[in-house]
Amino acid sequence: MKSEYTSRRIVIAGGGTAGWMAAAALARTMGHAIDLTLVESDAIGTVGVGESTIPPLVTYNRLLGISEAEFMRETQATFKLGIEFENWKQQGEKYFHSFGLTGRDHWSAGFQHFWLHGLTKGHTASFDDYCLELKAAHEGRFAHLPDNRMNYAYQLDSTLYGRYLRKLAEADGAKRVEGRIAQVELAPESGNIAALVLDGGQRIEGDLFIDCTGFRALLIEGALHVGYDDWTHYLPCDGAIAVQTASVRAPIPYTRAIAHDAGWQWRIPLQHRQGNGIVYCSRYLERDAALDRLLSTAEGQRLTEPNFIRFTTGARRKQWHRNCIAVGLSGGFLEPLESTSIHLIQRAILRLIRMLPMGEVSERDVAEFNDQQLTDMYQVRDFLILHYKATERRDSPFWRQCAAMEIPDSLTQKIELFRETGRVFRRNEELFAENSWVQVMMGQGIMPKAYHPVATKLSDAELEQLLAGLRDSVEKTVASLPEHHAYVARYCGVV
Ligand code: FAD
Repeated sequence: MKSEYTSRRIVIAGGGTAGWMAAAALARTMGHAIDLTLVESDAIGTVGVGESTIPPLVTYNRLLGISEAEFMRETQATFKLGIEFENWKQQGEKYFHSFGLTGRDHWSAGFQHFWLHGLTKGHTASFDDYCLELKAAHEGRFAHLPDNRMNYAYQLDSTLYGRYLRKLAEADGAKRVEGRIAQVELAPESGNIAALVLDGGQRIEGDLFIDCTGFRALLIEGALHVGYDDWTHYLPCDGAIAVQTASVRAPIPYTRAIAHDAGWQWRIPLQHRQGNGIVYCSRYLERDAALDRLLSTAEGQRLTEPNFIRFTTGARRKQWHRNCIAVGLSGGFLEPLESTSIHLIQRAILRLIRMLPMGEVSERDVAEFNDQQLTDMYQVRDFLILHYKATERRDSPFWRQCAAMEIPDSLTQKIELFRETGRVFRRNEELFAENSWVQVMMGQGIMPKAYHPVATKLSDAELEQLLAGLRDSVEKTVASLPEHHAYVARYCGVV
């Protein structure tokens, strides 16, 4: 058995959210055993977006021993209870994808089966009335509740998050080198990456390289040419513009995703400002028209110049190749609709730490990593496609294209199974659980034709008691919560 740890020199290329998340986690977990260097270029800068997150980031921060109140102060974060989707099913209609559990599941069947049975018995309350997080979001209320009863994520300033993580990583021993990577040097025999060469000639050698260079993918693609699977035929948007504005009202605890005739717009409320953006399909909307639309709908005084971004939805064919691991946008991009990119970064980092090479890179580790990471991406991809495919909109060529497009068999199976039986199954530790799929499918207008017979086991009185009891508990809890913005200010020690 090998006793000496030889893959000691780890080099992270790029210091965006991905680079600093990787540096902070590696330095905190393995700082005693590794020599960690991060190279970034202030002149190039970061992508400058990525403000809306999902609940596992709470766990990630906890793993790093981060104080939540300090983190929220430093990143001007607000709490997030879900996303409101406006104009996706039809113009003028909206639905909410909350982070909570709706109602109470039975081990054999999700709550939707009981709710559907209730409909046949004359119960008219909406599915939404049974979800604490959803009702709290709409009321603009929030508090931490015992037993983690309130499931939440954050809306944060990604530049500030990067800066905060940098402080933690450097305190734990990570070294930062400023400079532009001019060349990626390969070892002639193995084909592994041997060093990064910066403008001016400085060489940074390493045993393991983490490519966090964003869309440029300098190492994994530029040097190692692993290839890219283009998913534009499923996720057709390819442009975005972001702009920050002053807040015009107290921040709400949710993100808005508002569909337009060739894509959608986001609104992300932070403590100190609002993030706004438009995502569009350039085949149907020109850049200048997208900019006009963004600027004419963004509320509040403009604080930044527009940030124009082009992208191709898809995934790098190998996320780990030789001694290089792609983390963040270098590994692919699935568009920001369900705020999953930072989460995929987190999954890659935690996975890498579990599979950290003990000497030479093991091809078994590489295969396992690629399989797990790409499975995550396929599953998130299917969930995103659902929002576009299951639309009743036919008012523009974009939406007609989405409604008519071919979708992966895995998604067809999920949709048709739900339509026929009301059932959703979570496979391979899938990120989005049953309740997420149910909320989005029903929100987009897919209603099950049947429900599980276990729901009929309840007598009418028992069903009434169950449904009324759940609604009552949600209502009472929401009424007891403080206003979100006041809670954030108190929690962060601002008042
Ligand atoms: P970048 O931020 O681009 O960082 C790349 C780094 O590499 C920079 O430090 C750069 O200087 C460095 N670099 C590049 N080339 C060189 C070189 N030659 N030499 C030296 N350094 C170099 N994610 C979410 O989770 N939620 C969201 O709401 C969300 N919204 C998004 C909206 C849009 C429109 C887009 C495009 C993305 C969004 N994302 C979102 C994704 C999120 O922004 C990214 O996943 C996240 O910011 C990580 O980016 P990154 O660190 O991989 O790349």
